[in-house]
Amino acid sequence: MSMEIPYKIYLEEKEMPAQWYNVRADMANKPAPLLNPGTMQPITLDELKPVFCEELARQELDDTTPYIDIPEEIRSFYKMYRPSPLTRAYCLEKALDTPAHIYYKFEGNNTSGSHKLNSAIAQAYYAKQEGLKGVTTETGAGQWGTALSMACSYFDLDCQVYMVKVSYEQKPFRREVMRTYGAKVTPSPSMDTNVGRKINQEFPGTTGSLGCAISEAVEAATSQDGYRYVLGSVLSQVLLHQSIIGLETKTALDKYGIKADLIIGCAGGGSNLGGLISPFAGEMLRGEADYQIIAVEPASCPSLTRGSYRYDFCDTGKVCPLAKMYTLGSGFIPSANHAGGLRYHGMSSVVSQLYEDGYLEARSVGQTEVFRAAQQFARVEGILPAPESSHAILVAIDEALKCKETGEEKNIVFVLTGTGYFDMVAYQKFNDGDMSDYIPTDAEIKASLAKLPTV
Ligand SMILES: *Cc1c(COP(=O)(O)O)cnc(C)c1O
Repeated sequence: MSMEIPYKIYLEEKEMPAQWYNVRADMANKPAPLLNPGTMQPITLDELKPVFCEELARQELDDTTPYIDIPEEIRSFYKMYRPSPLTRAYCLEKALDTPAHIYYKFEGNNTSGSHKLNSAIAQAYYAKQEGLKGVTTETGAGQWGTALSMACSYFDLDCQVYMVKVSYEQKPFRREVMRTYGAKVTPSPSMDTNVGRKINQEFPGTTGSLGCAISEAVEAATSQDGYRYVLGSVLSQVLLHQSIIGLETKTALDKYGIKADLIIGCAGGGSNLGGLISPFAGEMLRGEADYQIIAVEPASCPSLTRGSYRYDFCDTGKVCPLAKMYTLGSGFIPSANHAGGLRYHGMSSVVSQLYEDGYLEARSVGQTEVFRAAQQFARVEGILPAPESSHAILVAIDEALKCKETGEEKNIVFVLTGTGYFDMVAYQKFNDGDMSDYIPTDAEIKASLAKLPTV
């Protein structure tokens, strides 16, 4: 007997997971340890403590505990916008005339507009528990800074955001959302930190970079009493918090007896993809089930498809621990690309190791085709997607069209990570036909990789 699948599969509040799932516990090949940039030895809890909140540092180093309880205060906050719906894209399927069944998990139904709030609230909670005064962070496009400022205002924590100067100037509305939630937003490089002053002196008029903003935020955290630094992607703790996406997706699919065949996520630092795939990859690792998993990245910043699996710095200032990951080099500057959240040079060490071991495949896609998919999706499904999310949409559409040729009724699942209301300049470029599709040359990538540290 087959049940009719509704357009939206809602879970009840009591079906929201009570624990996060740590996929590292089931990995036979663990991700390589983080290294201390000073000693080049595996970093210890004590060495992480001056920079990160202690409980978060513990989660970062925990490769063995499979399930970690989600504290009640975090669950209370989650309940304001979770469980998030899993939507059957009936209208898109009809428009594509495909026998495939397409499902998307929508993570944009909160004011910050993306999945980043899932980890922001957890990080703010542990900072508060530790009795800290506040946290510092960087933000590029602004989604992470927005999510963190919401989370900090909820727990009455001070929030200092170093925002890449070019975004600070070009995205005044994101900045104002953060200020409304009480965050202090500083354009980076600033004159408030040593590293900021140094960069301003060396490169007068620079509009900043994510790597520089990270270095400033770390300096701000370590030079003020009662402050720690927090990061919105890449780290294993962030993947752990984002596992709520995959756990809810799996619960919703199980409720209707649906077995996913193909799972797709866009990949910047790897947190939404890693969170979505965690429970499914866990089944693969334990030999219980098989899935096809695809990570989608921009052709302008192709860390999985064209990078190298090596130890690298997580920031340009080289103050953060080193991670073994697929990387383009910490000095790699991607060309102008409107998917700001996908412009990171490296990839989560968990996702990197799973990729290395063949549990997922990766595809890189061009910017114009991504916006074409975004437009097609918006017109039939109603939601205006973020440019980042649209990378996953494009591959879901491509795969659904392949099913049309083969007649396969595949179940395709992807995360719609966020909405695109703050990306209208990008949509304007697309609508005007002015989008650039620059892809780095092999020589450019080679030159950047040549500067990787030797470990
Ligand atoms: C930050 C962001 C991403 C990419 O980050 P991951 O850590 O790879 O998930 C994707 N989509 C949106 C909307 C984002 O804000």
